[in-house]
Amino acid sequence: MGNVAVVVFFLCCCYTAGENEPIQTFVIPHSHMDVGWVYTIQESMHAYAANVYTSVTEELSKDADRRFIAVEQEFFRLWWDTVATDLHKKQVRQLVKEGRLEFIIGGQVMHDEAVTDLDDEILQMTEGHGFLYETFGVRPQFSWHVDPFGASATTPVLFALAGFNAHLISRIDYDLKDTMQKNKKLQFVWRGSPSLKEKQQIFTHTMDQFSYCTPSHLPFSNSSGFYWNGVALFPDPPKNGVYPNMSLPVTKETVQAYAKTMVENIKQRAAWFRTNHVLWPWGCDKQFYNSSVQFNNMDPLMKYINQNSKEFGVTVQYATLSEYFQAIHQSNLVWEPRGSEDFLPYSTEPHQAWTGFYASRNVLKGVARQASSQLHAAETLFTRYRVRFPDGPVTKDWALDKLRALRWAVSEVQHHDGITGTESPKVADMYLQHLVQATMGVEELLAALILLPHNLGLPSILGSRYQRKGVHQPLEQHVIIYNPLAWNTTTIVNVTVSFPIAAVFDDDGQPVPAQIQMAAQSNVSYDLFIVVELGGLQHRKYLIKSSEKKCSGRKCGWIYEAKGVLFERRNIWDSMKTGRRLLPVINECYKLMFDQDTNLLHSITYLQEQRRVLVTQDFWEYHANGDTKAGPISDNYIFSANGSAVRAYEAVEMEIIPGKIMTEIRQHFYRGESDKDYTYSITTRVPECFGSRLRCHRLEQTYSLGPLRLNTEVVLRTSSSLRNNRTLYTDDNGYQMMERRYRKFNNNTLARNYFPMVRAAYIEDELSRLVLVSDRAHGVSSQANGQLEVMLHRRLWNNLPWSLGYNLTLNDSSVVRPTLWMMLGSISVTSKLYQREAIELQHRPVIMPIDQPQRSWREKEPRGSSPVRSVVLPPNLHLLSLSIPGWNYSSDHDVHLSHINSGQDLHSEPDFDRVLLRIMHLFEEGEDPELSKPVTINLKDALQGIGEVKELEERSLTGTWDITRLQRWNWKTAENLKTNHKSCSGGGDEAFTVTISPKEIRTFFVHFASRNFWAYPSSVKTDNH
Ligand SMILES: [Zn+2]
Repeated sequence: MGNVAVVVFFLCCCYTAGENEPIQTFVIPHSHMDVGWVYTIQESMHAYAANVYTSVTEELSKDADRRFIAVEQEFFRLWWDTVATDLHKKQVRQLVKEGRLEFIIGGQVMHDEAVTDLDDEILQMTEGHGFLYETFGVRPQFSWHVDPFGASATTPVLFALAGFNAHLISRIDYDLKDTMQKNKKLQFVWRGSPSLKEKQQIFTHTMDQFSYCTPSHLPFSNSSGFYWNGVALFPDPPKNGVYPNMSLPVTKETVQAYAKTMVENIKQRAAWFRTNHVLWPWGCDKQFYNSSVQFNNMDPLMKYINQNSKEFGVTVQYATLSEYFQAIHQSNLVWEPRGSEDFLPYSTEPHQAWTGFYASRNVLKGVARQASSQLHAAETLFTRYRVRFPDGPVTKDWALDKLRALRWAVSEVQHHDGITGTESPKVADMYLQHLVQATMGVEELLAALILLPHNLGLPSILGSRYQRKGVHQPLEQHVIIYNPLAWNTTTIVNVTVSFPIAAVFDDDGQPVPAQIQMAAQSNVSYDLFIVVELGGLQHRKYLIKSSEKKCSGRKCGWIYEAKGVLFERRNIWDSMKTGRRLLPVINECYKLMFDQDTNLLHSITYLQEQRRVLVTQDFWEYHANGDTKAGPISDNYIFSANGSAVRAYEAVEMEIIPGKIMTEIRQHFYRGESDKDYTYSITTRVPECFGSRLRCHRLEQTYSLGPLRLNTEVVLRTSSSLRNNRTLYTDDNGYQMMERRYRKFNNNTLARNYFPMVRAAYIEDELSRLVLVSDRAHGVSSQANGQLEVMLHRRLWNNLPWSLGYNLTLNDSSVVRPTLWMMLGSISVTSKLYQREAIELQHRPVIMPIDQPQRSWREKEPRGSSPVRSVVLPPNLHLLSLSIPGWNYSSDHDVHLSHINSGQDLHSEPDFDRVLLRIMHLFEEGEDPELSKPVTINLKDALQGIGEVKELEERSLTGTWDITRLQRWNWKTAENLKTNHKSCSGGGDEAFTVTISPKEIRTFFVHFASRNFWAYPSSVKTDNH
């Protein structure tokens, strides 16, 4: 090893930026194809996207020097499946084989980095990678994150785990980029995770100030730059092939001027990098739909430059991204490492802080996360079902279709103009429609998995959910509740019923503790809170018997009726006299005090340490400017308020519903003192410790906001006596927490201190920490000491011609109902809790009402013989994925390649026996004395509730690499010069025993022993679809 280090050192010293060598330019043809944004996917396919792949395939096939990188897989797959001819497919296979058409990132979309959850980032990459590997046997190894608005530190970690060799970003804070550019520091080795450190580090290239588009200003022409194919035309491409704004052709007359412009630009950029290689992206949004014009002009231009390379000091070549990175890698330089800090928030100039989109389109953000949870539940349940009943009546292809539709919809919306809320209204509707449709399909699947008979001897009850037979019994309702997490849980679920009296029984006929009260949102229905106890990945049936009259005795179950106490409306102007009349709400963890003079929360004492923290919560509004002539404006992307927030209400009403399962506090905020309807509300649920099992530290809050007035941005402000010095912590994609210190700027300090919160945010001082976990993404900030404000909703309209032209205004008049759970306690206590709480909020038990039970309740088998066994992981390990992807490729790469080369069509037969399993360690190194330790588990034991594990194979994050064969490029940093060549896999585990270290995500293919003994004789076998 010593020799290696010496040689490396020698090479490094000898390397010079090549004063006399010409600058080597890598011209990378690409088209940035937003999966959404202004136009729907269908519109985009029609107007340009399909033409990109058709014309690029044809043009690349004509000349061996030409290259192209394909980035967003959704468009490529749509083209491949619905447009490409057999000849195109043959050509594409050849181009891919030659490395001239290169798949970059390989995800369905170029996902947003600020408001996406790690689960969904992994999903959308897995979707794309599975397709590419299955179809071409290729595994993307480079990223091209040119457009997401800021860069998260989770992304490089995930890319490293997926086997990538280099990462590329572009949109980072303008003055930071400026400094990095001046100091030649745009390239570095990023160690995105403080726990995984150099194990998952990745070389990262930041694009220079020209970003991903070709320079568009040409001094000699009024046209659009190096865009000979002009601008894409919507809705239809022009019949004659003449697009608007096509640049002057390259001719004898123009070639010199083009060459001069291009060379000057190359030289300008070369000065910002340490090697004399220049990455010159050639393309922009919606380009290369008419590739022949593009290449037929660029070919002679490049030829001209190369013929005069001595004079110009520049050579040019078409390249893929991997060719560029290979050149950088071969330069053997030593790179500066970067720690786990991210590049959020993103500003393009002093007044343009891109922190508004953290909260744009709250409904879409919420629906996307719910759909993702639903998918997780269905994947786990289907996997269990398949292993146990491989020939059960739920047809596997039908099930896979349902799952794939939802995988696709959830993947699609992760696009950086999707879940961000920065798209036009029709595109937002498109995402919602895809999500809702696919979710309904998966609900059907869930019902089928649970309701269809699994074993012999029972008559088919297919479709029973939809066919009411016999006597209609509105007073009896059955529900199935499924716990999608691999942890045991005791929790409260809420079922809406239409009668004031109810009793709940479990599947053993035992009464279950429950509480009933008038519903918060309606005065004709009732909220029934049921205490459920569920094992990991387990479901249970419950019977709800409703009645209109009071009853007594055992048949009434274990029910509590809760009645509210109303506190009269209080005007804020009277709030001088606060803190005199405090009302306590106490459970085993907290004493909450509500102030009768304001009807606001006053303080919370956490009882374990008898520490009282003043806490109050209310709503404030930022008023945005809709007139571009009057200064900076807030829009879908940007938050730019006119000034400080103003109180959003004049009066507050409160109702407290004390209960034995939980106490509910409802606060209604009225904009005007005598308004009839409230605009904002907080519903807080304080759970009682039931036995000792139910966690009492979770204060569940649901808010109602809207419709808002135009040009208003609303925050929930939680003000406390914590001395946090305006520092807060927010998560990057639910994976890791980032410290966010308050910073003062010359301009726009307010907006530039806003951060994304995907799952969690907290503030703390030496003694206490106040945590919020969230069911969807928001913007969050600490604008004053002790304050944590969450931007929950925005409604904006502005007169910027660009916004109006693209209909990119945010006139969102919806009423939104996000949920946050609040926790307060010492740092050590909350450290143990919040990651798990965030996951439990994300994956709430799935409640499935059944219209008609499959058989009479009495006839059911005793619970002791219940076939559903629990699956339970240690508290610091999270079952990130358990699914049957349905890929059909051999785990052996060589075998797979030989299949592909043989020309077999592999798509036709999905593999239903390969289970994809991911396990994640939730804690950072040193975060908790116990829970941060590496965990060793035997997966055969851990998964025996599902079936008998026969084979376990460790894979890369998206499944395409056998981990033992994955060798990522080693990039030198000052520290790892001596300790080179660290293996990047966990490795070294024996048989089924694996050790998972802090923040590791490990991915496996699992094969279970066949359990075919439940097989149906063919005469009984039912095929419902
Ligand atoms: Zn984009």
